[in-house]
Parts: sequence; structure tokens; C-alpha cells
Amino acid sequence: MLDSEQIKEILSNICVNLRFHARGGQGGVTASNLCVEAFVGYGVCQPSFGAERMGSPTESYVRLSLNEDLVRSNEQVYVPHFVSVLDPSLLAEIDVTAGVPQGGWLIVNTTMNQLEIQDLVKRKDLNIATVDALTIAMEILGRNITNTIILGALIRVSNLFTLDQLAEAIMRRFKEDIAAKNIEAVKRAHKEACIYESGVQLDFTADTKVPWQQVRPGLPGYKEVDKAGVWYCDEDIIEYGSKQVNTGSWGEWEVIWNEDKCTDCAQCWFICPDFAILRKKGDDGLWHMAGIDNFHCKSCLNCLNICPVNAIDKKLKQAPASCAVPEEN
Ligand code: SF4
Ligand code: SF4
Repeated sequence: MLDSEQIKEILSNICVNLRFHARGGQGGVTASNLCVEAFVGYGVCQPSFGAERMGSPTESYVRLSLNEDLVRSNEQVYVPHFVSVLDPSLLAEIDVTAGVPQGGWLIVNTTMNQLEIQDLVKRKDLNIATVDALTIAMEILGRNITNTIILGALIRVSNLFTLDQLAEAIMRRFKEDIAAKNIEAVKRAHKEACIYESGVQLDFTADTKVPWQQVRPGLPGYKEVDKAGVWYCDEDIIEYGSKQVNTGSWGEWEVIWNEDKCTDCAQCWFICPDFAILRKKGDDGLWHMAGIDNFHCKSCLNCLNICPVNAIDKKLKQAPASCAVPEEN
């Protein structure tokens, strides 16, 4: 890891690139904005949403330098030195390490250890930092917003700015009480982050454009889907669409239906944005609630909030974190 003096020297001569991977609604763009606001020097950030909706993968890019001329580009970052991943499910869906030079840093909100992460991203030449930002967010903020929290781990491994500089940026951006909670969460993440150094020196001079794509081959594109529909649908309701997209990996909650409490009012079915409420036709010829399609439920919790008899519950998918370094074998 570089100390603040070493990173200052690097920032005088080159532009340090960051990339954030998040899901729509998790605040990845705010995280990148805060980096620029906290940094003492010059910086730019650009978001990339694509066809965003809540839970869909998003990216945002940050360039930081002490040399004004080096941060004028407005294109996406192709060679990120630090990649922050706000949602661990993205590791298996997105090529989050695309373009990262040897010795680059991968900072992930997860309870996984570095061997599990290396296995998912198929690289062993990166430095890895993990933080259980979800637990910190739920305990301090009361909701799964991990965007400021991941910055605590980023500061720990990058020294691009200090905790105090980030706290000032947070205070400028948020109301006093919300800012205070976010600062508390950032400090906890800074302290609790698990650091796994690979021993490979980060090459800040690597700067080549690497072709990459956001979605890994294998997922259906519009050409594979009848009538160019993008999302899966129930053929009993709408006859076209793609059922292969695992939107169920987008959320942090497992949504549970309690059949005994359910009065079959169908309000959850009407409000679900992803057709993830299952129904079946009964002997009476009417449609009845039949459960949750967990492969497609992105845990927006609309159904839980609308259910008049509390027949829908939730539980966190993620287990508690641990910094234990596993044996190599
Ligand atoms: S949480 Fe409920 S409303 Fe939201 S996607 Fe899942 S089943 Fe549908
Ligand atoms: S909203 Fe609640 S009671 Fe109504 S069908 Fe859904 S689970 Fe059952």
C-alpha cells in the first residue's frame, strides 16, 4: 500500500483512475462525486447508467490528479487503478476487473474472503480489500446504502484523501443528521476493512484501452428474445421476453411468503415490477397467490410494504463477515 506522500508524488505526474460498480439505487454515482469533492486537487467523474432501473448494474468513473491537464477526459475509465464494487453479486455478473493493471486494487462490499473473490474474478495479481458494508449500513443507516461506506475502505488502501476530507465532503452534501451517520459508518468501514495484499506492485503507467463489455456473453440480448422484448415475462400474462436474466441476484433480501396468513388479495401481484409473484389457477377457475419466484425477485420490497396482513417477510441473504485468511489448500 502506498502512503500519502507516495500517492501525492504519483498524483503530481499522472492521473489516478477509479471505477465504481453498483446497482441502480445504491448510490454509486454519489460515491464517485464524493471522491472528487473530498480530493484536494483536480478531479472529474462521469456516470454510466445504460438502461438503468432499480437494481440493474451501473458504473461511474473518477479521474484524480494534481495536474489539471490530466483530468480533462470525459470518456469512461478503461484502466482503473482502484475498482470499488458496492454489491457482491456483481462479481459473478460483470467483468469488474476489466482493464485493471497488475497490482490494482479491488475493493468489495462482501463477507467473502480473498480466495473466493479471486475465484470469481479469475485473477490473482490484484490486491483486494473487503468490508461488510451491508451490515454497517443496516446497523447505522438502517438501510442498504453502502456508497459512502465503501469509501472508508478505499481511503484505507489508497490514501487519495483523508477521512477528515471525506467527512467535510459528506457534510457539504447531506443534512446534518444524515451526514453524521454516514461519517460514523465510513469510520467503521475504514477500521474494519480486511486487506489482502498480493505482493504485486501497482503499475500506474499502464494506460491502454482494453475492449470490454458490461454483460458477460451468455446472457440474452434483444436479438435472442422474441419481439425484441428485454425482460422475462410469464407467458400466461405476456407471451414474449427473456426469462434467463437472474434479477433475483440483484437484491440483498430473500423475500418469504407466508401462505397461512395470505388472504389472496393480489395486491402484491399488481405492484411487483418484475412479475416475481407466482400465481396458479385454482379449481374455482380463479388465479391464486402461489409464492415468490426467487430467481427473478430483486427484493424491492414493494410487495412486503403493500401486503395488508403482513404475509410477506424478508431475511438477509448475506451471512456475517469475517477477516479470516483461509489456508491456500
Ligand atoms: S420484492 Fe416483491 S415486489 Fe419486489 S421484485 Fe420481489 S416479489 Fe416483486
Ligand atoms: S398482498 Fe399479501 S395477502 Fe395479498 S396476495 Fe399478496 S401476500 Fe397475499
